[in-house]
Amino acid sequence: MHSDEPTAIDEATLRDYLADRLPPEGSARVEKALRDSASLRARLEDVRDDREDFQLHSLGAIWRRARLTCPTRQQLGSYLLDALDPELGDYFRFHLEVVECPFCRANLADLEAQGAAASAASASRSRQQRILKSSAHLLGDDAV
Ligand SMILES: [Zn+2]
Repeated sequence: MHSDEPTAIDEATLRDYLADRLPPEGSARVEKALRDSASLRARLEDVRDDREDFQLHSLGAIWRRARLTCPTRQQLGSYLLDALDPELGDYFRFHLEVVECPFCRANLADLEAQGAAASAASASRSRQQRILKSSAHLLGDDAV
């Protein structure tokens, strides 16, 4: 996967990405590179600024593009609980905060609302789990 250097993504590719003309694998490759590279994100902003016509279509393009790589609702739930592996968590953070996928943000807000309602109910259960965890800790670090 290290052939996916940000430098391998040229301006034409970024333009195609913004215009939503890349195949799903291409979009995913660009998104991955954007996630890893602040300089590539800056280049994307430059390309975006150069394209007045893009501004008109950006919301729709971003929405369609974002949905190609949307996490599932279950994954979003794990994201809220901070229970994902860090790389996947970073990707979702990028998807939600940089791509600002409206679909997933709405989903996440919904899950947060549910979580707030459920947290009171699960407070006693999580106390039990903590007790279980601390007992497990006595048995060995692997179990934590
Ligand atoms: Zn999404």
